[in-house]
Amino acid sequence: MASIFSKIISGEIPCYKVAETEDFLAFLDINPNAKGHTLCIPKKEGDKIFDLEDELYLGLMKFSKEVAIAIEKVVPCKRVGMTVIGLEVPHAHVHLIPLNTMEDARFLQKTQLSKDEFQEVAAAINTAM
Ligand code: AMP
Repeated sequence: MASIFSKIISGEIPCYKVAETEDFLAFLDINPNAKGHTLCIPKKEGDKIFDLEDELYLGLMKFSKEVAIAIEKVVPCKRVGMTVIGLEVPHAHVHLIPLNTMEDARFLQKTQLSKDEFQEVAAAINTAM
């Protein structure tokens, strides 16, 4: 199913890109729980993460792990948490969220970042990979 993430993959709408492979893309969440909140997605369209074929699902987990390790290197946090929701965008994705408190995992308190801050943290994570 086409979604806003299809337009990000095609380049039709911009994103703060963190990392990219042939099959996967990581970019900053536009309404982050915390600075460095990143979404990892397969480029192939598909809604529910647990409906993905095993190879794609495992590839997404491996890609997400690599991105999470890079986030933890450059974003001060106790650890990087991983969450799957998908209620808003029907394209399989993993949320990677730098966590300092449980509030950071709850999708209630949001962080405002400037364009420069988004660009800076995306570039820093990319460089750490
Ligand atoms: P959910 O589908 O509930 O897992 O949430 C989708 C996430 O995608 C939310 O955290 C949104 O802030 C994020 N999101 C929606 N549109 C964009 C966009 N154009 N660029 C970056 N993140 C987005």
